[in-house]
Amino acid sequence: MGIIKVKDLIFEYIRRDEEGNVEGITTAVDDVNLDINQGDFVSILGHNGSGKSTLAKHLNAILYPTEGTVWVDGKDTKNDEYLWDIRQTAGMVFQNPDNQIIGQVVEEDVGFGPENMGVPTAEIWARVEESLKAVGMYEFRKYSPNKLSGGQKQRVSIAGVIAMHPKCIILDEPTAMLDPKGRREVIRAVRALNDVEKITVILITHYMEEVIYSDRVYVMDKGKVALQGTPREIFSQVERLRELRLDVPQVTLLAHELRKEGFPIPAGILTKEEFADALDESIKEI
Ligand code: ADP
Ligand code: MG
Repeated sequence: MGIIKVKDLIFEYIRRDEEGNVEGITTAVDDVNLDINQGDFVSILGHNGSGKSTLAKHLNAILYPTEGTVWVDGKDTKNDEYLWDIRQTAGMVFQNPDNQIIGQVVEEDVGFGPENMGVPTAEIWARVEESLKAVGMYEFRKYSPNKLSGGQKQRVSIAGVIAMHPKCIILDEPTAMLDPKGRREVIRAVRALNDVEKITVILITHYMEEVIYSDRVYVMDKGKVALQGTPREIFSQVERLRELRLDVPQVTLLAHELRKEGFPIPAGILTKEEFADALDESIKEI
């Protein structure tokens, strides 16, 4: 079994009126299966309301299945006894860094998690240093968080999670509130956590450009997994992605249009560099 396993997951939000009568039911996650291995970098894509956040909240026991089962490191999230273990194994980073940072000073904020876990003081400082270095924020350790940019704050919240030494980190649209520079900083930091620290990453986003480095991509629609595969397999299906209301990266789109016109360009171009190489090759053939 992988570090995260989701089997036949269904989750229903139940709306009630003031008297407590059921007004309606939204099936936010509808029969989802996932099996994520330790060390994987997995992305979950999908337009607004497709069920991404609801799914994510099952991965560290914020929500429990209506039907089906979720295991984190082999532990069933429904079992309350494991709550602490599960939260420590699978750390969560949310959209808005302002709601996640509580310390007055960066290094103090990052230390809160391990402190609450009862980690000895000397080790807390070692973890704070290591975590801030991992996200490229060590030089800001004495700063007040409200002096930082959005991307810097989000990297501090990520450091706060990794200071708890999770095996897995789940990021729910961590770049949604950031400018392009902040988005790049955060994605670079997340990639390093996976590459260097070997932390399992589950990145939820609706920016297609952010998923090209993942091992596997899941695309959600109406609570279901509509597509899954490697980034290249996913990006080869331009028309399908449009149906799922996702914006395909410009370079992928351009390559796709040229290919449709008969240019010998492979499907699923992901980066400008790949596109340039493919163009070079195709020109040689013409
Ligand atoms: P995403 O993160 O992909 O935007 P969500 O998981 O937030 O999707 O939402 C999935 C569906 O569940 C949507 O139809 C949304 O309106 C509904 N939903 C989300 N949160 C709640 C809630 N707290 N109560 C009732 N319905 C909700
Ligand atoms: Mg969401």
